[in-house]
Amino acid sequence: MKNRIGKLVIVGGGTAGWMSAAMLKRVLADQIEVELVESDAIGIIGVGEATIPPIQLFNSVLGLDEAEFLRETKASIKLAIKFENWRVQGESYYHTFGAPGRSQAFCHFHHFWIRAQQAGHTSNLWDYDLNYLCAEAGKFAKLQVNDPVWEMQYAYQFDASLYGQYLRRYSESLGVKRTEGLINQVNVNSESGDITSVVLKSGATVAGDLFIDCSGGRGLLINQELKTGYEDWGHWLPCDRAMAIPSERFETTVPYTRSIAHSAGWQWRIPLQHRNGNGLVYSSSHYSDDEAADILLGNLESPTLADPKIIPFRTGRAKKQWNRNVVAVGLSSGFLEPLESTSIHLIQSAIVRLITLFPHAGVTPELVDEYNRQSKFEFEYIRDFIIMHYYLNERDDSQFWRDVRNMNVPERITQKINLFRANGTLTKDNFDIFLESSWLQVMLGQGITPRDYHPLAGKLTVEQLLDKLAKTKETKLQPMANMPGHDEFLALYCETR
Ligand SMILES: Cc1cc2nc3c(=O)[nH]c(=O)nc-3n(C[C@H](O)[C@H](O)[C@H](O)COP(=O)(O)OP(=O)(O)OC[C@H]3O[C@@H](n4cnc5c(N)ncnc54)[C@H](O)[C@@H]3O)c2cc1C
Repeated sequence: MKNRIGKLVIVGGGTAGWMSAAMLKRVLADQIEVELVESDAIGIIGVGEATIPPIQLFNSVLGLDEAEFLRETKASIKLAIKFENWRVQGESYYHTFGAPGRSQAFCHFHHFWIRAQQAGHTSNLWDYDLNYLCAEAGKFAKLQVNDPVWEMQYAYQFDASLYGQYLRRYSESLGVKRTEGLINQVNVNSESGDITSVVLKSGATVAGDLFIDCSGGRGLLINQELKTGYEDWGHWLPCDRAMAIPSERFETTVPYTRSIAHSAGWQWRIPLQHRNGNGLVYSSSHYSDDEAADILLGNLESPTLADPKIIPFRTGRAKKQWNRNVVAVGLSSGFLEPLESTSIHLIQSAIVRLITLFPHAGVTPELVDEYNRQSKFEFEYIRDFIIMHYYLNERDDSQFWRDVRNMNVPERITQKINLFRANGTLTKDNFDIFLESSWLQVMLGQGITPRDYHPLAGKLTVEQLLDKLAKTKETKLQPMANMPGHDEFLALYCETR
């Protein structure tokens, strides 16, 4: 039997560090000692505010009270992302966490809608999606549903620094030890190549059996020490820089994130309870930082609350996200631009994967290989989904959009597009976090129209078909009648529970 893993050292106290500390300590409890080292002098990246629905599961396994979480992190509800100017300027579509209509047997609802379109009935597919209807109306309630047709999946938009502090308090209450200090040396066992300890500027040494590298983009252990190597995806996702700035909140907080395409990148707007998070993701080959600042500051619509912060990044992933006795979690493991708000989810799934494959009896090649296999798929599938937004554009106002439209994309993307274009078929891959309805909404929103539909949709007369659509819309609208506005929900829910 190899040595048991008794002591875990987490390097870094950003979102990745504190999420890892909280969950690993919660699940492994007294089986393991956890120490987290972070440097106040370096600080955290401070962005990362929009999430996707599985974060609810993460918080609930931690046992967090949702109302307290919303209060502590100044969070808002997220039902969707609104993509503006992505296909062509002046047009927009939503990628919601819901799904249109109701599937019948093996036939997705959109096939009935396609058939109706072909019969000359023009309606918006999103009108059959409760998430969209509530997002547009600025409404939200936690529905107690007994029929999946009214299920409304949601996520949160929160203040990243406040979430980290909240999880720090939680972790420390479970017994996680926090050590502040700058790591300036890493000790390695000369025989095994494993990391044995990190040394702080103060001279203090923190030793451990397993190290979680949450040190951000620098990848202190996985990259700088172990030289794991990095797979660069900049040729598919040419944006390599972001500029972030908070601004004052608007009178009303909408329950969705906005993604507004510009001539060489896109702008996010994330409404929180106390402010808006804003930023521009751009290609430095097309915009100078001054041009980026002009675009961002010219499109805020509320006064700024700080100076703009420039964040360079490199899209791609560590070739091995688990190498020797180091597991990279968060930005040290790789980065995909925040177009679909997936980075915090990648932190979550890395932690869950590590817990599932936890090396109680010691690190083995089998555990490491399986971990790396799964995380490779997951990163690549998210990458493909993001690439598709760029690839399927019809904008003609800049070389940037022409270039991304004409690039050679991974084959999986063209296969999915071709299948959908032929007869509306959608497929689901293992490890792809995006369900069929996500691919559907983005393909349709970006202008792919299926030529044909499933034969089941052809069995109805046109009259029956239109009746089905009208009844579906009526059903979807039902829960909205007594639903409060999003701000009203937040005020009531956060204060009365
Ligand atoms: C522009 C942009 C927008 C984003 N938006 C989203 C979004 O909307 N949704 C989403 O899910 N994700 C988003 N992300 C990603 C998200 O910000 C990160 O996944 C998340 O913040 C995790 O960061 P981290 O903890 O890995 O790194 P960091 O926050 O950088 O933390 C690194 C930690 O390591 C410590 N450290 C580093 N070096 C040392 C050292 N030598 N000694 C001691 N400590 C050290 C630092 O002090 C810090 O505590 C965005 C990222 C960017 C760049």
